[in-house]
Formats: sequence, C-alpha cells, structure tokens
Amino acid sequence: MTILPASFAETRDGPLEIIRFAALEPGPKLLVLGAVHGDETCGPKAIDRAIADIRAGRVDLVRGEVTFLPIANRKAYRQRTRAGDRNLNRDLRDKPVPLDHEDRVGNRLCALLRAHDALLDIHSFRGEGEPFVFCGPQNNTDALEPFRHAAAEGDFAARLGVAVVMHGWLDVYRRLIDCRARLGLPPLLPTEGHGTTEYMRFAGGYGVTLECGRHADPASVEIGYAAIRRALAHLALIDAPKPDVSARLVIRVCDIVICEAQGDRLEGVWKTGDPVAAGAVLARRADGTQVRAPSDGYVVFPDAAAQPGQSICYFGVASERRLAVAP
Ligand SMILES: [Zn+2]
Repeated sequence: MTILPASFAETRDGPLEIIRFAALEPGPKLLVLGAVHGDETCGPKAIDRAIADIRAGRVDLVRGEVTFLPIANRKAYRQRTRAGDRNLNRDLRDKPVPLDHEDRVGNRLCALLRAHDALLDIHSFRGEGEPFVFCGPQNNTDALEPFRHAAAEGDFAARLGVAVVMHGWLDVYRRLIDCRARLGLPPLLPTEGHGTTEYMRFAGGYGVTLECGRHADPASVEIGYAAIRRALAHLALIDAPKPDVSARLVIRVCDIVICEAQGDRLEGVWKTGDPVAAGAVLARRADGTQVRAPSDGYVVFPDAAAQPGQSICYFGVASERRLAVAP
C-alpha cells in the first residue's frame, strides 16, 4: 500500500544531459537552458551548435564556465508538447516530495541554477511576432521579487541580439492569481508565476528568458545561437568584442485583460509587440462591453483561445528603464 500519488514512481524519462565547459582561468558561470517547454526546439538546436563550436575549438572558452542543459524537460520534448505533467516554468522551486515529472526536474534545475551566476533560457512561441527578451525588476527589497543585479541583467538583456525587451512579469501575474481567486476558479499558488529566471534571481544571480520567434521557424535557431555567442562575449568567457546594444524598445508590462466568463474574447488580430493607441479596443466581454487600452502602449501575449481564468492579453507601455550600461 502506498500513500504517494501514482506518478511518484514514474522515472521513465531518464537523466538530464548536462554539458559543462570549464576554462582554465576564473570567471563568471553561465547556464544556458533549452526546451524548458518541450515543443520549443530552437534552444536544443542552438545549444548543440554552440557545444560543437567549443569542442572543435571554433569558440575558445578562456575564462569562467558555461553549462548547457539542451533539453530541460525530456518528457515534454519526447511528447513534443509544451508541458510534461505540467508547465516546468511555473511554480519552480525545491520540492522535497516531488509529485510529478516537473517537480523532479525542478529539483535538479534549482540546484543547477544555484550553482551559476547568469542564465540564458532559450524559448520560442506559437504565434506571429518579433523575438524578445524578458528581464526582471529594478533593484528592490520588496517581498515579491527582491533583486540587486538589475543593471547587470539589463545590460545582458540589451545585448543579446533582439530589439524588444520586456519586464514586469511577476507584478502582473499577481493580478491573474488574485482575479482567479475572485472568480472562484481553482486557486493558483503564490509561486505560480515563478520560473527559471525568478528562481535564478532568488538564488542570487540574474537571468533572462529569450523568446526567439516561432517554434518551427529556422530563424529562431539563428537568434538563439547568436544570443549564446553574444552572452559568451558579453561575460568575457571568450575573447571577443563586447556585443553591441540590440535593444531598441523596452516595454513595461503593466496590465492584463483576463477572460472572466465564457464568451469574453480578444477583439482584432494582434501579435506581441503591436503598438496600440489609448482607447483601442483590445477585447470584448460576453455581455458586449469593450475593454480598451488604458493608454498608448503595446499588446503582449494575445490569446484568441483564452478560457475563463486565463489571460486574453497583457498590455504594456514604453518603459522608462535604460537597460544598456555604457561600456
Ligand atoms: Zn517557452
């Protein structure tokens, strides 16, 4: 007889493959992740190329360490699905009693994150849109996400080769959690919005999520590969010129339109990063009420298939943050 869930004993998805290169001179420790979501294959492909470059001597690691985890979620990757049992990039924390596949992976992943200084987590997305980077908050001592490496993280994000950088994730995710509670939907944990980068900041480092483009677009692999090379150069793990500042637009995600009832829906066809004017109709409630942009800003993560308790879209404004630190 067992009191543990049936999934407790499921271990068929084998070990994580972790590849580490340690230079002979000291320096920062960079972790590069791929396939945290199993249907996002640009990360593993970009990482494989970077590993081959280092093994062949085409890229010469002269200081510090770089660790590659090409396929973070093997179960989801094998299934070619976003999640295995659940989304690995939510509620990521140490769990002494793991209850599902992602809990077990998370325990390894958290230990790996703690052992590094900087994280590049490579993703792709389903719909249309420009590649972008998600970075964390300004330095703060608040309870939600205290942080003290905003300048280093912002400079890292600004030089990864993509033009759009966003921040504000946990502040807005908090509102989704609160709204679900208000609607009487199954509650989300306070840690639901915490993924790899949030854990990395908790652990004393910094990290960014790179969204390279569409899942199946070969260009997404190129974006991911270029970002790895830029990260190695930026952290001076290789001797190469400091990467140029690629960020052209910084968006602070500040609002969320939540599907509160069946029939609430996105109005119009949007993609992440589309500019909107104040008053533009973003969504329509089931009773016909229009939801309008509260100011000039940008549409973020529109979802035409949102169900009650999920986000129809996020809304962002031009950020006052200047990310790049002068060389
Ligand atoms: Zn992803």
